[in-house]
Amino acid sequence: MSSQKKTITRVIESPQPHWVGDGFFVRPLFADLAFQREISPFLMLDYAAPARFPPSDTPPGVGPHPHKGFETVTIVYDGEVEHRDSTGAIGCIGPGEVQWMTAGSGIVHEEFHSRAAARRGGVVSMSQLWVNLPSRDKSATPRYQDIPGKSIPEVSVGGGVVRVIAGEFAGQRGPASTFTPVQVWDMRLKAGDKTTLTLGEGDTALLPVLQGRVRLNGEREIAASRLVMFSHAGEEIEVEALDDAILLLLGGEPIDEPVAAYGPFVMNTQDEIRQAIADYRAGKMGSL
Ligand code: MN
Repeated sequence: MSSQKKTITRVIESPQPHWVGDGFFVRPLFADLAFQREISPFLMLDYAAPARFPPSDTPPGVGPHPHKGFETVTIVYDGEVEHRDSTGAIGCIGPGEVQWMTAGSGIVHEEFHSRAAARRGGVVSMSQLWVNLPSRDKSATPRYQDIPGKSIPEVSVGGGVVRVIAGEFAGQRGPASTFTPVQVWDMRLKAGDKTTLTLGEGDTALLPVLQGRVRLNGEREIAASRLVMFSHAGEEIEVEALDDAILLLLGGEPIDEPVAAYGPFVMNTQDEIRQAIADYRAGKMGSL
């Protein structure tokens, strides 16, 4: 029995990039779909294309700020990103590595280029995805998964690879532990590589094109800096790289709950947002 394809429902071009602190010049790839229920369980995605930073004794980045009610997933392509948070966790990740941080009940952290990499100067490129938590897990104890590159299975696709960070692809299971079923696949394809992705029937499926051009489902050419949203119905997506390309595949079971988002807090109701702001101001999310 052949599976049904997921069909393309929207293609959005991302707005122009903006600075996050002084360390990350990012495109908000989800544009006006960010925080909308139709892309649940995902909330937003920033992508910093490769940019060269001069050597500096002061690492560029973004200082202490809170998060609550969701998870942040940082993937580094070039350079090194360092994280410190109010639970005492410290992590530094380099090319191909991932930080999966559960803000849960509330955390304060900072994100900078690593001190060593800043001193050397050089190219930095990364993406950061926000994944929502269901109501029952919004008060989960904050935790931090540092995912080294060697623990991420790679599935060869022609000359390129699909790196399975979360979920399962071609029999390989990603190392990230998630609260709801989520697929995060880091795809680095060479021109001409072709593969078929299999996702869950009824699941959300998003394909941000970070670099290069691809043809999807054998019919539609998509350029870089676009987000492609697929139907919940169907299971398969055909991907063909027309250039060397960097993509993400984001899949997951929708969380069927209202989303109330305010800056770094993502809850279900405005009352919970007001409480989160009050808790942060009262120092209940800790400090650095
Ligand atoms: Mn943050």
